[in-house]
Amino acid sequence: MVAKTMDELVSICKRRGFIFQSAELYGGLQGMYDFGPLGVELKNNLKKAWWQSMVYERDDVEGLDSSIVTHRTMLQMSGHEGTFSDPMKDCKECGHRMRADHIVDNKCDNCGSEDLTEEREFNLMFKTHIGALDDGSNLAYLRPETAQAIFGNFKNVVDSTAKTTPFGIAQIGKAFRNEITARNFIFRVREFEQMELEFFVKPGDDEKWHDYWLEQRLNWWEEQGVPKSKIHVLDVPADDLAHYSKKTYDLEYEYPHGIDEMEGIANRTDYDLGNHTKSQDELNITAKVHKNTQSTQKMALQDQETKEWYVPYVIEPSAGVERGMIAVLNEAYHVETLENGSERTVMKFKPHLAPIKAAVIPLKKNKPEIVEMCKTIKKDLQKLGLGRILYENTGNIGKAYRRHDEVGTPICITVDFETIEEEIPTVTVRDRDTMEQKRIPVSELKKYVMEYFI
Ligand code: ATP
Repeated sequence: MVAKTMDELVSICKRRGFIFQSAELYGGLQGMYDFGPLGVELKNNLKKAWWQSMVYERDDVEGLDSSIVTHRTMLQMSGHEGTFSDPMKDCKECGHRMRADHIVDNKCDNCGSEDLTEEREFNLMFKTHIGALDDGSNLAYLRPETAQAIFGNFKNVVDSTAKTTPFGIAQIGKAFRNEITARNFIFRVREFEQMELEFFVKPGDDEKWHDYWLEQRLNWWEEQGVPKSKIHVLDVPADDLAHYSKKTYDLEYEYPHGIDEMEGIANRTDYDLGNHTKSQDELNITAKVHKNTQSTQKMALQDQETKEWYVPYVIEPSAGVERGMIAVLNEAYHVETLENGSERTVMKFKPHLAPIKAAVIPLKKNKPEIVEMCKTIKKDLQKLGLGRILYENTGNIGKAYRRHDEVGTPICITVDFETIEEEIPTVTVRDRDTMEQKRIPVSELKKYVMEYFI
């Protein structure tokens, strides 16, 4: 069972500390969200799983972490300054602004009026200025995608790692888009994170690799608890392709608000590397506001056998962290009716994504020996490096179990009187999904927990 509505998800996320509206105390900042104590863990775990699969488990991918503030010319040459825009219309009645391609029946989605302005293009990039002057000469952008800096560093990475095709550069980081209408919780926001791989291949091999990455990515989402049966692969129609793409597969998930894009896998051809090699004159870009803005590098590789130079093609799997999080939260969300007729809400996260890996709970909160034993166990398990192990001392076991079901903690470990009295101390270990409880010796706890998560 998944959440019936986005409201159900929003509510549990707020109540349990996953996600909060940004600047809520001042009425909220539209299209921005903050990640609370559990949200930051879930987000980090999802990013870690991506990095594990895209970088650590491969030897043909290198990592990168580039600056967010981006050189204006980089985004001119990539085509973003000219074309990274959405069509916009305003309602003449109430002033509401809408993305023209999202308008239904040519009616304002705020007041219902049909009196709308003509369509015009709105560039989605956030502008900023570098340094003390603010006279337009030092304009820069917050990156609208992490990809461009990967292309910008292509030569640096090739020169420093001796990589040649097929190989990739991976990056996870913030991206910013001044969306005309931010909506559907963290689905469409103005500040978000992308997990992007640019995989460089020989021209001609691109279609084969495109299909390869489609399969890899579907498998990865399944490992995160998002089944293939809930993901629709859209072969994006030619009219809807981004300016850089020859062909794109969108992975669309069945979100509570409808079927919508979670990840795009684009064949960007040699568009970006080619453009970063060209001069501004060739690309007809006239605003030469920076000094030394000509690209200094030729983004080509030499074929070792034929000695011919070629500009690699690029396959780009690009996933949104926030959109992935909603899918993961939605799939994890279960409301179960227990044998005694009561209901429990349980987040059945895959163990590696669970924000809290294990909770250590004393049966009695004021019994010093029990409390000490709990703290020692917490400390020992924390050292395993699996993620957060929580010492939880609320004094009510039933409530603690319910809370940990609802935040998806896979294991609860309870220390009771027997533990401190026994010659070979044992603890109760409770499984989130089966609710089964069993006693195991404290000396075997580390092994038990390790085996559970690895
Ligand atoms: P959309 O058509 O929904 O605006 P897009 O096709 O412009 O998305 P891409 O440019 O392909 O998106 O970006 C790659 C990924 O980044 C998307 O699949 C999505 O997961 C994420 N993403 C893009 N825009 C946003 C946003 N405003 N909020 C959250 N995630 C986003």
